[in-house]
Formats: sequence, structure tokens, C-alpha cells
Amino acid sequence: MDVQDPRLRTLLRQADKVARAGKRAAAEQLYRQLLEEGPDVAEAWYGLGQVLYDPAEQKDAYQKALSLKPDYAAAARALAELQGEPIPEWAVAPEPEPEEEETPEVVEPEPLPEPTAVPDDTAQEYDLVCYRHPNRTTSLRCYNCGKPICSSCAVKTPVGYSCPDCIREKEDLFFNAKPLDYVIAPAIGLVLSLITGYLVVRFTLGGSFFLLFLMLFVGGLVGRFIGQFSKQAIGRRRGRYLPQAMAAVLILGTVVWLLPILLLAGFGSIGAFFGPGIYLFAAVGALYSYMK
Ligand SMILES: [Zn+2]
Ligand SMILES: [Zn+2]
Repeated sequence: MDVQDPRLRTLLRQADKVARAGKRAAAEQLYRQLLEEGPDVAEAWYGLGQVLYDPAEQKDAYQKALSLKPDYAAAARALAELQGEPIPEWAVAPEPEPEEEETPEVVEPEPLPEPTAVPDDTAQEYDLVCYRHPNRTTSLRCYNCGKPICSSCAVKTPVGYSCPDCIREKEDLFFNAKPLDYVIAPAIGLVLSLITGYLVVRFTLGGSFFLLFLMLFVGGLVGRFIGQFSKQAIGRRRGRYLPQAMAAVLILGTVVWLLPILLLAGFGSIGAFFGPGIYLFAAVGALYSYMK
């Protein structure tokens, strides 16, 4: 192969190895990673074509390889076979596969793996080591930062496998609340919850079934209203624990009005709890999902 950059050459050899082991998805990922750094490596386009499943994508990959290296016989054969066309005469003679290691062409000696680091020969297929588990070999890399990850650390995302660090980083970008937000939003929530909680406790006391039933709707509306109002106040930022904090505040704002009733009338006052209970059930659900 005539790839000059030693890093790309290593990547290519590794991708070819993974492809030969039949791990097409992992190989595809490695080829794509390589092509991101070196888009003019014809061998990588050819290798990518070999591991893809979609004929249209395969065709693109082979054509790309041929446009970079017009005398690339293996790519020309693969393209002809894919399209059911006769193999062009110049490409018929089987050329030695450039990635075959047995070829007489001088390949720079590969450093022998440390006997302690690579204990068994299955590891030869995976010459990467998980950055969190130094004793696990792997062929996967994080699509985002390129760190090698083992299958138990890899998190599948729509764009590829990611390492836990990158997932955490993305989450931190998503949860952008400032420390003060954890004071402002619950404070507003508490004031509003105390007002609505008081009204609910007062008006459902000895209320009819219809009134209790109505609390389902009232709770949903109030929960959403409190969520909207407090979220607005903190610039609509999201906090990892904000939904829980707001739910706690909402419950507190109702329960404080029930405590005197409980203390004065004991458990004979149980009827007073139905309305507020239904209200809280609906309000907490609405508020929690709004804050998320
Ligand atoms: Zn990563
Ligand atoms: Zn791991």
C-alpha cells in the first residue's frame, strides 16, 4: 500500500483486519474514521465498499477509490461484479492484495506485542485496549473522541458508539442550569405552591365528588403553570435535578396546610386529604414532565 502517513497506515491495517474477521459494522466505523482524516486513501474507500451492505453506497465507495487510483484493479473488479458487468481486461489479472501481509513486498516490521499486554491470540484481532479497562482488548473506538472502548463501555448512539466521557459531556451541555437557578425556580415554585395548595385544601374540604374529580384537571393545570412560570424565570435552562426539586416544593406547598388539620382533628379528618391528594397526583406529574 502506498499510504504515506504512518497513523493512517496503522488505521488502515487495523480496519482491514477487523473486516477480515467479519466484523463489518466495526470495520465500517474504522474506515470512515480513517477517511475523515485522509479522504484520499483509495484503499480505505475500497475497504469501505467491501463492508457496506447497500449496493448504491458500495458503488459510490468503489468509484471513489477508482477516481483516486484509476489502475486499482481490485476496486475495478469489485465495481464490475457489483453492477453485473464484465470485468475490464486490464483488471482481470489477480493482483496481490495490497493488505496481505504475506506479500514479498517489504512491510516495515510491526512491533511485537508485549507478552504481558496481549495474553491470548484472539487479542491479535483487536489491537486496541479499552481506556477504562486496560486488560480488555477491543476493536471499537468512540466516534467522537476516538478513544478505544470495550463493548461494555460503549454506548450506542444514532451516530455511532460513544465513550462514557463524551456522553457525560453532551449531558452537561444539555443540563445548562446555573447554581442560582436551583434557588430561584424552587423559591418561585414554593410561593405559587403555597397559594394554590391553600386554596385546594380550603375548597375541597367536605367537597363533593365532582369537586374531587375536578382536582385532576386543576392539578394538571397548576403543575404546568408553575413549571412554565419558574422555567421562564431561569431563562428556560435545564437542570439535572430540577424536576425532583420542583416536585418536592410542590408537595411541601400543599402538605403544610394539611398538617394543622391533621393535628387538630386527628385521623378523623381523613376526608380532607382526598382533594389535595388527587390535586397533588396530577400537579406533580404535570410539573415534573414540564421541567424535564
Ligand atoms: Zn469519547
Ligand atoms: Zn471498558
